[in-house]
Amino acid sequence: MKISKIETFVLSDQLNESFFFSQWSYSERQICIVKITANNGLCGWGEGYGPATIIEAGIKHLVPLLIDRNPLEQETLWFDMYRKTLDFARRGVLAASISALDIALWDLKGKILGQSVSVLLGGRHRERVMPYATGLYFSDSHQLAEDLAKEASTYVKQGFKAIKMKVGFSIAADLENVKAVRAVIGKECKLMVDSNHAYSLREAAELARLIEPYDISWFEEPISPEFYDQYRQLRSKTSIPIAGGECEYLRYGHHQLLKNDCVDILQIDICSAGGLTEAKRIAALASTYGTEIIPHTWGTGIAFHAAMHFITNLEPIPGRLYPPEFYIEYDRTENGIREALTHPSIKMEDGYIKVPRTPGLGIQVDEDVVRHFSLRQTI
Ligand code: MG
Repeated sequence: MKISKIETFVLSDQLNESFFFSQWSYSERQICIVKITANNGLCGWGEGYGPATIIEAGIKHLVPLLIDRNPLEQETLWFDMYRKTLDFARRGVLAASISALDIALWDLKGKILGQSVSVLLGGRHRERVMPYATGLYFSDSHQLAEDLAKEASTYVKQGFKAIKMKVGFSIAADLENVKAVRAVIGKECKLMVDSNHAYSLREAAELARLIEPYDISWFEEPISPEFYDQYRQLRSKTSIPIAGGECEYLRYGHHQLLKNDCVDILQIDICSAGGLTEAKRIAALASTYGTEIIPHTWGTGIAFHAAMHFITNLEPIPGRLYPPEFYIEYDRTENGIREALTHPSIKMEDGYIKVPRTPGLGIQVDEDVVRHFSLRQTI
């Protein structure tokens, strides 16, 4: 068995309405996906998280390391890719290129062996995962709090039991928005906030104090990912659990968050932290600290299903007869590529999504859709 071909695609779609968060505005979706084909004709798909054209260039740089190699030996392939990029890209976007290739290798392995990725990761601790809705971004609206409340109530009507909203606009606006959203979603629905590292330690502590009465399940990326010590200090100043990790790479980066007591919830992104091979190692590392993992998930059905298989394989720590819920992030912002690219479409039933049992990631990628969005490529 040999890898015979690797193709990359940068997909692009203009949004009908742009939206923004504390760092920048989105008016377009750009996503890099990769297809690895073996000499028996089977193929696997992967996706990188980050700047799509740079991820694509990184994949092209790595392709010669993989051609004619056995796709089932993904740990040795992973190490060769890591070793060849270590000197100039220890933690950064090339890890996303490795991630995309690694996810495609797991999908391919599953198809070759006729097993789902979650079974190949070691088994399934659960058959379904609870999605939380990610949305509630900022707009130029003069009645933002009201708009956010309206949007939040549609998620509740759709059956979501947990919702994450953006903060990081200003402390006063954040408080008003959180109040408005909590008022419409009721007491039962979980509510999380994410500032995308908008605040200083002082500001984050102030916002946490002000929103504590609104039962916040976690405060995500309150401060810059560079300040490990400030994360630890913030945890001692608030009862709200602190989450972060979407800007970290590889087990070495995530180990910094763990050993510095930065987070209650570690949010690795499988499409940038090193793929499923490295995510499994990060999970083992996190388990030694007793730290919960809820991955950061953003992109198409490829990224979503990679996360689903990973989550279903996560050990329930602590073990008990009635284990806690395991969550997956489900981005609800406009994304034409995500909606059309993979089949079957993602279905939520009774507030849960079932993890596929079919081989590989359990999805088909529609190559007509790949071509359609590739046509709009801007480079
Ligand atoms: Mg986030």
